[in-house]
Amino acid sequence: MTECIFCKIIDQEIPSYKVYEDDKVYAFLDITQVTKGHTLLVPKEHVTDIFEYEPALAGEVFARVPLVARALEKAFPEMQGLNIINNNKELAYQSVFHSHIHLIPRYEETDDFSIHFGNNQGKYTAEEMQEIADKIRQQEEA
Ligand code: 5GP
Ligand code: ZN
Repeated sequence: MTECIFCKIIDQEIPSYKVYEDDKVYAFLDITQVTKGHTLLVPKEHVTDIFEYEPALAGEVFARVPLVARALEKAFPEMQGLNIINNNKELAYQSVFHSHIHLIPRYEETDDFSIHFGNNQGKYTAEEMQEIADKIRQQEEA
């Protein structure tokens, strides 16, 4: 029997507030409701994180993101924006190891969500930037 909490939610062993379901994905309200309507979209197939996805499954899951996004927008016309977050591994704040996408509606600057994007422009020379890009590109081609 699975010990994964999201597999249990998908299998209805643990109750959840369902937002959307089809044969590939399940979407439900995050228990913490960072903001009203905060939703988690998960593949029904158990994958731990982004590194485990087959392309087909990734396509199926990510194709549903705009669908849920539009449903949130229609449900809450007062919504002013939407953050889409996917945490991978503990350092990057993943706490449930069944891959999931957070959809976090934004209502105002002072709502209970924040994110910090540091600006390290100037930290790398043009040559170093090129080296970084080349290194990543070479892995994709491998
Ligand atoms: P992570 O930190 O892995 O990106 O996100 C995991 C999310 O799962 C958290 O936002 C947390 O509130 C949510 N969560 C954990 N356990 C449950 C649960 O039993 N039910 C629901 N609906 N959400 C949960
Ligand atoms: Zn699972």
